[in-house]
Amino acid sequence: MNYLEKIPHWINNEEVYPEKEKDFIPKFNPATGKLFSLVARGKKIEADKAISSAIKSFENWSETPVVKRAEIIREATQIIQKQKEEIAVLIALEAGKSFKDSMGEMNAAIEMGFFVAGEGARFYGKTTTSAIPHRSAMTMRQPVGICALINPANNPVAGFAWKVFPALLCGNTAVLKPSENTPYTSIVMAKILKKAGLLSGALSVIQGLGKEAGQYLIEDHRVDLISFTGSVQTGKQIQQIAGKRLAKICLELGGKNALIVCDDANLENAAESAVLSAFSSAGQRCASGSRIIVFDSIFENFKKLIVEKTNKLKIGVKDDDNFGPLISKNAVEKVRLAVNKARSQGAKVLSGGQKFSDTDKFGYYFKPTILENVDPENEISKTELFGPVTILYKVKDLKEAITLANNSPFGLTAAIHTKSINRAQVFQEQCRVGVVSINGHTYGSEPHMPFGGLRNSGTGWREAGTEALDIYSEWKTIYTIHDPNNI
Ligand code: NAD
Repeated sequence: MNYLEKIPHWINNEEVYPEKEKDFIPKFNPATGKLFSLVARGKKIEADKAISSAIKSFENWSETPVVKRAEIIREATQIIQKQKEEIAVLIALEAGKSFKDSMGEMNAAIEMGFFVAGEGARFYGKTTTSAIPHRSAMTMRQPVGICALINPANNPVAGFAWKVFPALLCGNTAVLKPSENTPYTSIVMAKILKKAGLLSGALSVIQGLGKEAGQYLIEDHRVDLISFTGSVQTGKQIQQIAGKRLAKICLELGGKNALIVCDDANLENAAESAVLSAFSSAGQRCASGSRIIVFDSIFENFKKLIVEKTNKLKIGVKDDDNFGPLISKNAVEKVRLAVNKARSQGAKVLSGGQKFSDTDKFGYYFKPTILENVDPENEISKTELFGPVTILYKVKDLKEAITLANNSPFGLTAAIHTKSINRAQVFQEQCRVGVVSINGHTYGSEPHMPFGGLRNSGTGWREAGTEALDIYSEWKTIYTIHDPNNI
């Protein structure tokens, strides 16, 4: 499978290419900074066609038994499994990852596919009692309708699996807009769904810019559900636009996740975990560990360890490199400016703090960066950078650590390193986030478990797990009255 020179839309189970050259946008290779593909630039006309085809196929797809819908998802997942190495190569190219990391993403997508397919045989509602004689009460799921699914660039195939599989299982039809920075793998996945038997029109993929293709989808009154993963800024815009018509809106947004290192922690493990949380995937994880909160009695020892480990990290896209480039030149620039601003306001750079090389010649790399002397109220303490930057904070005890961890506009994930079950228990109870990890990383979600956050991290829905079905379906309560005298 080669990366296409021109990336099309996918509408009615067919590739659709714009007619004019100007209706393509350039796609650069993050690892080299070189142009390597042109991406269809979706306009209102394509968004409209895709939504119309979703409407046309809705009746047929939603009336297909859920077990049959699940079979198609299982069949697609089996095809994906057979082709996983080939698809991983494409992820590596478009997202700027090593093949090893891309395979990790493929395996996550496959697990999600099998999990969702399994849910088709369960799809539980509840059967319960009624206060009224000869009346029974039960609930069942029904589809929401037409879904707009909008994804970021960091995990294009896993992101596809997290949204598309549960949306289709629940009987919805959907239009997906992948990130303009990772456009092709979603087409490959959509083609596999066609091969597995997905009805024409049940899933379309519209390429292009957020402000154009993405916005047309969310503005269209025929779209019943918007499931968006991306930045807080875009999430708020979507909420404003689609909230006006009371569309169902699931927003999965950013994080500024804290990792606490207590004075009784295994420092070696804690430092290893902090480095992985902060820098793996170049910090391009909503669950990355961008705030490291350390007890003052071990602060200097821990600092030495984490700086040593960070200075040994290898940057690049080979399998033995630790992390690769950022997704775009803009992303590097955003991180560079934020670090420079923090520095000018008194932050001390313990490691990194600058671009790796000339982005145009060698790709979009930024050095793994550790800051200290940053006020918790400073902008950089409160803003997600989505890059390889973490900040060390010093606290006197657990109470202060938890207060600082909770002092954030975000509430996605948090981790603690301690040998004390008492500390771990208090932390998991008091930390105001959606996912907690004890003696582990700030990231690392599993497909059968719910994932999502509080405050600016989202609107309270949980993706993955059976909880994902609650996004993509609505409950229907059914009462049945029977007459036992008329049998
Ligand atoms: P982004 O908000 O810039 O873009 C995300 C997607 O939205 C892209 O497809 C983009 O084209 C589209 N978009 C942009 N503007 C739009 C608009 N006005 N209307 C409709 N669509 C629009 O985010 P990004 O920088 O690509 O992604 C990084 C963000 O995603 C980070 O904040 C990260 O934390 C978040 N993220 C969250 C999760 C989670 O599960 N909570 C997972 C992964 C990434």
